[in-house]
Amino acid sequence: RSSAEKFEFQAEVSRLMDIIINSLYSNKDIFLRELISNASDALDKIRFLSLTDKEVLGEGDTAKLEIQIKLDKEKKILSIRDRGIGMTKEDLIKNLGTIAKSGTSAFVEKMQSGGDLNLIGQFGVGFYSVYLVADYVEVVSKHNDDKQYVWESKADGAFAISEDTWNEPLGRGTEIRLHLRDEAKEYLEEDKLKDLVKRYSEFINFPIYLWSTKEVDVEVPADEEETSDEEESKEEETEESEEKKPKTKTIKETTSEWELLNDVKAVWLRSPKEVTDEEYSKFYHSLAKDFGDDKPMAWSHFTAEGDVEFKALLFVPPKAPHDLYESYYNNNKSNLKLYVRRVFISDEFDDLLPKYLNFLKGIVDSDTLPLNVSREMLQQHSSLKTIKKKLIRKALDMIRKIAEEDPDEYSNKDKTDEEKSEMEEKKGQYAKFWNEFGKSIKLGIIEDATNRNRLAKLLRFESTKSDGKLASLDEYISRMKSGQKDIFYITGSSKEQLEKSPFLERLTKKNYEVIYFTDPVDEYLMQYLMDYEDKKFQNVSKEGLKLGKDSKLKELKESFKELSDWWKKALENENVDSVKISNRLHNTPCVVVTSKYGWSANMEKIMQAQTL
Ligand code: ADP
Ligand code: MG
Repeated sequence: RSSAEKFEFQAEVSRLMDIIINSLYSNKDIFLRELISNASDALDKIRFLSLTDKEVLGEGDTAKLEIQIKLDKEKKILSIRDRGIGMTKEDLIKNLGTIAKSGTSAFVEKMQSGGDLNLIGQFGVGFYSVYLVADYVEVVSKHNDDKQYVWESKADGAFAISEDTWNEPLGRGTEIRLHLRDEAKEYLEEDKLKDLVKRYSEFINFPIYLWSTKEVDVEVPADEEETSDEEESKEEETEESEEKKPKTKTIKETTSEWELLNDVKAVWLRSPKEVTDEEYSKFYHSLAKDFGDDKPMAWSHFTAEGDVEFKALLFVPPKAPHDLYESYYNNNKSNLKLYVRRVFISDEFDDLLPKYLNFLKGIVDSDTLPLNVSREMLQQHSSLKTIKKKLIRKALDMIRKIAEEDPDEYSNKDKTDEEKSEMEEKKGQYAKFWNEFGKSIKLGIIEDATNRNRLAKLLRFESTKSDGKLASLDEYISRMKSGQKDIFYITGSSKEQLEKSPFLERLTKKNYEVIYFTDPVDEYLMQYLMDYEDKKFQNVSKEGLKLGKDSKLKELKESFKELSDWWKKALENENVDSVKISNRLHNTPCVVVTSKYGWSANMEKIMQAQTL
C-alpha cells in the first residue's frame, strides 16, 4: 500500500524473529495460547477502565468482552479477534517491533543455548510466536483514542503501518490475522483449534468462540414440483392410511455459528476439595505463563474471613525466573494478580507481598476492596495491610510444609506402594526449593523483623557435621553438646576453603558443630540474625568465642603475659587492638581475630569487591 509507513524492527526483536522463523521447534501450537493470552490481557484492561468510566465499553457488540476465532480455509487465514483495549498507532509501533523488552535479549540468549521455545510467554515476547506458523501477519487494531490501523509484516526485518480504510470497522479491539504457512495448514481444522483452546486456554476468564461450521438436518416443506414420482406415489399411499400430515422432507445443510469453547470458571472461587492436583498444576502454568514440564513445588488455596475477606491461591514455582534477583532492589511489584469481586485489577500491584516473596505466583480476589476507584486509590486502601499480613503467614506456612513433608531419610517399612511413591515424589523437594529460592529466605530474615524467627526456621546450611546435606537450625540445636550455649558459625567464600580454617581446629577436636556460611549475603544475614531459640550466634573467627571452662587458661595467661605484652607493643602500628592467650586453637600457633563488632575478614573481602 502506498500510504503505508515503514519501520524497522529493533535489532534484538529482529534477531528473535529470525530464530522463531527458522526454528525447528515441533510444538508450534503455542502461538494460539500466546494470542489468546494477549487478547485476555487486553480485555482485562478495558474492563478495568470501565469500572470508573462505563462509557469506554461502547454500545452493542463492541461492549461484549469476548474472544472470537475464525478460519478462512480458502485464503488460509486464521484470525483471532478481541474487543479489548486495542492499540493506537503509537502502541502498534512500540509494542510490536520498535521497543525491546528486558526479556527480549534474555530470551534470544536462552534460545541460542538450546532453551525451550515453550517459555516464550514468560519473557514477554509471546506475540512473535505467530511466526512459527505464519509467514505474513496483519494486526488490525482500534483503540478508543485513535483511528483504526493495520500493522503488517512478513518478518523480513521491517513492518508497515497504515490507517485502515478498507477493513470492516472493529468498534474496538484487535484482530490478528495469520496467513498460515503451507506446513501449518492443520490450524485451519476446526477440531484442531477446539482441542487447542480446551488444552491451553481453560482458565481464560473471557468466553472464547469459534466460528464453526456444522452439517445439520433440517426439515423443509416438501416441494411438490421437486418430489420424484416414486415419492409421490408413496405419499399417496400413506395419505390414505393415516391422517393428513404436512408434507416435509429432511435435507442436509451447512450452517455456521459461534460455538463457545470454554466455560469461564475461576479456580480460586471453587472449594479446594473440588479442585484436583492436575487442575491446580494446569492453572499454575497458565497463570505464570510457565509451560515447562514441571509442576509447581507447592500451593496454598484459602479463604480469609473476618473484617477483610478474600480468597487467594499461591504457588511456589518449580524454578526461579531468570531475573529474580537482578531487579530485586528496584522492583516492588509482586507477581500476584489482584482481583476485586472477580474483576482483574492489576498484576503489578505494589506491596501485596514483601519483596523477598516476589518469587511466588498467585492470585488474590477480594470482596472487601472497592471496585470503582482508581488503582492509585486502591493502593492506599487500609485493607491491603491486612491482606499482606495474611498472605505472608500463609506463604511461610506453605514453604514450611514443603520442608516438613520432605522425607529426607525414611524407612520404607510398613508403607503401601502408593505412600512410597508419594514420598519418593516429595523427596528432596526442600533442597530443590532451597537451591532455587534460598536467597529469598535470607533476604527475608534481613528485611522482615516481624517474621524473622519463622524465616530462620526455614534456613538451611551445610556445617562441619551436616555430611554434605543441608541442615536446619533446629537440627543444629538438637545436636548441641551439653553445656554449649552458642550456635557457632564461620563465613568464607567456599566450604572447601573453610574446612581448612585454623579457627575450626579446636572446635572440631572438641566435637562442636560449626555452620558454614559461604554466600556473600550471609555476612549481612548474620548482622540481623542475632539469636535463635534463645541461643546466640557466635562467629568463630571473632572475639568472644567461649568453649566452656578451661582451668588452665588463667594460668597460661599469666605465664605468657610478658610475651603477649611484647607482641602487642610490636604490632601497635598495625591496627591490632589486643593480643590474647586463648583456647580456640589446636595446631596453629596464632590467628588474627576480628573484634566483636568489626567486619569479619570475609566481609572485608566482600566490601572490597564491591568498591572495586
Ligand atoms: P506480553 O503479552 O508479555 O506483554 P507479547 O509479545 O505477547 O508480550 O505482546 C506484546 C505487547 O503487545 C503487549 O504487552 C501488548 O501491549 C500488545 N498487544 C499484543 N496483543 C494485543 C492485543 N490483542 N490487544 C492489545 N494489545 C496487544
Ligand atoms: Mg503476551
